[in-house]
Amino acid sequence: MNEYAPIEELLQWQKEFFDSGITKDISWRIQKLRALKYSILLERERVFHALKSDLGKSRFEAFATEISFVIQELDHTIGKTRKWAKPKRVATPPAHHLAKSFIYPEPYGVALIIGPWNYPFHLMIAPLIPAVAAGNCAILKPSELAPQTSKVLAKIISRCFDPSHVTVVEGGPEETQALLREKFDYIFFTGGNRIGQIVMEAAVKNLIPLTLELGGKSPAIVDWDADVRRAARQIIWGKFINAGQTCIAPDHVLAHDSVKEELVAEMKSEIESFYGKDPSKSPDYGRIINEGHFDRLSRYLEDGRIVTGGLSNREERYIAPTILDAVSRESSVMKEEIFGPILPVLGYEKLQDVVSDLQKREKPLALYFFSRSREKQRKILRVTSSGGVAINNVIVQITPRELPFGGVGYSGMGKYHGKAGFETFSNLKGVYQQTVPIDVRIKYPPYGNRLKWMKGFFKWFA
Ligand code: NAD
Repeated sequence: MNEYAPIEELLQWQKEFFDSGITKDISWRIQKLRALKYSILLERERVFHALKSDLGKSRFEAFATEISFVIQELDHTIGKTRKWAKPKRVATPPAHHLAKSFIYPEPYGVALIIGPWNYPFHLMIAPLIPAVAAGNCAILKPSELAPQTSKVLAKIISRCFDPSHVTVVEGGPEETQALLREKFDYIFFTGGNRIGQIVMEAAVKNLIPLTLELGGKSPAIVDWDADVRRAARQIIWGKFINAGQTCIAPDHVLAHDSVKEELVAEMKSEIESFYGKDPSKSPDYGRIINEGHFDRLSRYLEDGRIVTGGLSNREERYIAPTILDAVSRESSVMKEEIFGPILPVLGYEKLQDVVSDLQKREKPLALYFFSRSREKQRKILRVTSSGGVAINNVIVQITPRELPFGGVGYSGMGKYHGKAGFETFSNLKGVYQQTVPIDVRIKYPPYGNRLKWMKGFFKWFA
């Protein structure tokens, strides 16, 4: 629980703070983002320690996927906020030439940001950045399953924000439910589909706009003309980073029958070159978040033939990087999001069969396609739907600052990162401004036979 006050009181403070109009000042917002950056940099050693303690995250991974990501997002947003926040003039029809039209971005008010445990630092700060840039107040609810990171987040936030502007409420489902009973102005949720439904139901009751950043089964397709060695290296890196607990990790591999054997052999050898003969000793290989997830993942090990890996240790929450072959499409490992270090590899004969199958399944958060053919790359983009795509690579689609990130359908709704994040946390208010006080009487009744005059204006209205 927050050390300051009960949830209703916090929300009331934030609503009053928002209504005071302070957050409308763009220079003030930028100053707050700078303070956030400074506070993160000051506490970065604590962030490294917390991530090590919660997830066994190596310093390099913690730097690359959590701290450095949000610092870059902060720098980008600090540089662009003034531009994004400016009202934008748009065309007005000729019949209304004595008026101006413009888009006026305004903040929603108080946002609730709920985060997961897998990138517990990154996934709380990354949505907070656009929330603040767009002029909102925010209450952050980090995951209770990464308790050390949750504590450090609370410290960082309290160092640079007044709690009436941004604050952290620590806790688990009970605290989240209590927050969801309140009437926020925006909800931004990152987590699994099951809790996503609970969040959406709560939002519906008060008609609160929301973003859902969910999970799903992101496939990596390796076609016959792919650079198999390179594909193997990319897939193994993307899959086993954070011990497979990455929302956009390749969930499973679909390989053309003619390259499947070679791909599996290459992936096996990459696992050894990354993590050594015994990955449990590698300082670069993470651990499963808790026993519950360990037990869930262990059951998947029975869903196919283990090509490599398969070893585990419950006490240490360790599961070796594992490749599974001879997996049925009907097995649990192919029906549920894996979210762990188990990689099923399935073969296919025709790319069209893969496409048809994907079209029947829920839309994934990410889709990876390895092929040298531009034509096939274009086809995959045209005929499949997913939150994002990387071609001949994995995970990196989140790095260009201006690529919107988020799911579609079952993998979520709404986008963020860069300008997309600013717009997500803004009501893009459409404004029509009459510049000359002329009142055109034609629109007022009685209409008489004015319809025929309209023909002069609208050529298509013969
Ligand atoms: P989760 O849905 O279990 O938890 C997310 C948040 O919901 C936590 O803060 C938790 O405290 C809260 N919560 C848990 N039970 C609740 C309940 N009954 N009522 C209300 N709130 C509750 O997700 P997780 O296990 O922390 O994260 C893993 C999932 O998140 C995976 O499915 C993964 O794909 C997804 N994910 C998605 C993204 C993305 O950007 N799209 C990023 C990371 C993770």
